[in-house]
Amino acid sequence: MTRSALQTLPGESPTILGLQDVRVHYPMGKDWLGRPKAPAHALNGIDLQVRAGETLGVVGESGCGKSTLAQLLMGLIKPTSGRLDWVYNSDKERSSNVQIVFQDPQSSLDPRLPVWKIITEPLFVQRSAPHHEMRGIAAKVAAQVGIRTEYLDRFPHQFSGGQRQRIAIARALSSNPDIIVLDEPTSALDISVQAQILNLLAELQRSRDLTYILISHNVSVVRHMADRVAVMYLGQIVELGTATEVLERPRHPYTQLLLEAVPRLGVSVDEGQVSAPTELPGNRTLPTGCYFRDRCPKATQGCEKPQALLPAKDGGASVRCHLES
Ligand code: ADP
Ligand code: MG
Repeated sequence: MTRSALQTLPGESPTILGLQDVRVHYPMGKDWLGRPKAPAHALNGIDLQVRAGETLGVVGESGCGKSTLAQLLMGLIKPTSGRLDWVYNSDKERSSNVQIVFQDPQSSLDPRLPVWKIITEPLFVQRSAPHHEMRGIAAKVAAQVGIRTEYLDRFPHQFSGGQRQRIAIARALSSNPDIIVLDEPTSALDISVQAQILNLLAELQRSRDLTYILISHNVSVVRHMADRVAVMYLGQIVELGTATEVLERPRHPYTQLLLEAVPRLGVSVDEGQVSAPTELPGNRTLPTGCYFRDRCPKATQGCEKPQALLPAKDGGASVRCHLES
């Protein structure tokens, strides 16, 4: 697939994946009387179109559902309700469509496997290449991420953190996916190495027409990489727009607080928790009306009604807030 072949509208790629009112509720077992306990409402009505070739940044505090969304896209969990439609699907197996790069290559790479086996793990799992071809495929992909062929028989502990993340990226690439979920891809790396890995990811995206879902607490990483940004709160998207719209002119009161909580250069959304008057509510019983209204400095009576994610009147970012849409 080439990006130009997919282009339908100038400047806007077609949808590769659509989510419609997707909910994921984790059952929490039974209480001592045998009654089912309230589930954890991890995702509460996600509407999202992922466009071919874009980088979609996903930000939000810990517990807002980012990893659940990643697992859903990976096909590891099913929606409790709602729809997930692959609009564009290549000839490949559906399961090969999405791969993931985790935060910490130290724990995400099997220490007992040589590099070439790590890189070809997805092909092995999918049985999508004959065994005698695996090593050759590993060599090719390794070269693309800057790992030398003579290192293919080494083990993860013989590499630096940055090299290990390159190996993790090679593993994500080997099955030729359409989408790669990047879950905090540089957070565990030294500052000096972060830029190299981000540049590598950007280069691979261009050369291989990849679509990225970039989950990150690091606003400067998202600003650097993302075309669009989705801001999540309690399992919902509260703001969705271009990276410039969302990060430079945030409209939703939650996005504004989130970005204020991030020291301009310090950048960790999670650690610099949002300074709202009340704690992040639990997700076992969902709030009525706007989920954010108890913490929102701008809350009015209109916030008692459920809020939809609507495009702003001026055509800017979509916001789930009646004060701004
Ligand atoms: P994030 O990645 O943004 O921190 P998660 O998707 O990990 O958020 O979690 C969203 C919510 O779902 C949290 O309240 C979390 O406790 C809950 N959750 C996540 N995974 C499970 C699970 N396997 N079982 C029960 N609850 C879960
Ligand atoms: Mg997470």
